[in-house]
Amino acid sequence: MERVLITGAAGFLGSHLCDRFLEEGYKVVGMDNLITGDMKNISHLFQDEYFEFYHHDVSKFVHVPGHLDYILHFASPASPIDYLKIPIQTLKVSSLGTHNLLGLAKAKNARILIASTSEVYGDPLVHPQTESYYGNVNTIGPRGVYDEAKRFQEAITMAYHRFHGLETRIVRIFNTYGPRMRLNDGRVIPAFIGQALRGEDLTVFGDGSQTRSFCYVDDQVDGIFRLLHSDYAEPVNIGNPHEISILDFAKEIIKLTGTHQKIVFKPLPKDDPMQRQPDISLAQEKLGWSPKVDRTEGMKSTYTYFKSLSKEELHASEH
Ligand code: NAD
Ligand code: UDP
Repeated sequence: MERVLITGAAGFLGSHLCDRFLEEGYKVVGMDNLITGDMKNISHLFQDEYFEFYHHDVSKFVHVPGHLDYILHFASPASPIDYLKIPIQTLKVSSLGTHNLLGLAKAKNARILIASTSEVYGDPLVHPQTESYYGNVNTIGPRGVYDEAKRFQEAITMAYHRFHGLETRIVRIFNTYGPRMRLNDGRVIPAFIGQALRGEDLTVFGDGSQTRSFCYVDDQVDGIFRLLHSDYAEPVNIGNPHEISILDFAKEIIKLTGTHQKIVFKPLPKDDPMQRQPDISLAQEKLGWSPKVDRTEGMKSTYTYFKSLSKEELHASEH
């Protein structure tokens, strides 16, 4: 059996990746320091004899006994409120952490895939964003701790690929959603659904004309799985190109949840990108991948998940 190390295993994407690799017949080693993750996301995996878990901060030296065929580096705070709260850890996990995992991949002769992000494009001046666009990032702004760390992560990964001949893959993930997102992670989908469920008004930042394109988690995981097994070493966008303004999205959530709450407007956070939509031609060409789950279907199952949470969980998420 092939063995894969997944960092950030107790997080949103990492936990879904653990599920998928176990389903596909791999041995999975999960690693996480739980800084933004939750053991609840992987508690169902502990009865699986092919799953093991290490509680470890990957910004410190990483040791995993035994062989490894693949490494997927998904450890990193991912939501703006998280990385504004823990900026140094955010910088470290994508720089020092990535360095450690590249070193581990080299020692184990494993192929490594790193989780990059659409944030490497910053507030983009090219629309939709293709992989050849170099981006427009404010290195010293509040989001710089995330965006710039991810840009460094890509650079060091390509250096290991070119200098050491390491087999590397880079996925540029665009906004992804689904069950197991944290209600209080501040990202727009849990924020709006949490507000609707608690009977609070929905907070749209700015005038809501900024756009995002939301990808359902199963589609994202499938794109990542295909990329890992492809022979393409340069970055690939994985996301759903269906773009919507945040104001229209708030209206969709009001309809979906049947809430009678209003929309209220709050200041737009600094450096909040005004538009974002992936160009996925490369993923279509190299991986034969395109998203299958439309927003109506994906949002229904996401809403069902959030509705199933206890009252305590729902109210613990107020901030
Ligand atoms: P998440 O916060 O749910 O998961 C991240 C996990 O990493 C958490 O379990 C956290 O505890 C763990 N972690 C953080 N620092 C760590 C460290 N130093 N050592 C060990 N574990 C650590 O976030 P997510 O949405 O699942 O994001 C996962 C990855 O995907 C991140 O690298 C993120 O940058 C990337 N990404 C996600 C999205 C998205 O829309 N969800 C978009 C772009 C990129
Ligand atoms: N947003 C909003 N209200 C909220 C939370 C977020 O209007 O309560 C906006 C945010 O300003 C951004 C968009 O929704 O324009 C997506 O935000 P998110 O944090 O989900 O992701 P990112 O900005 O990293 O794409």
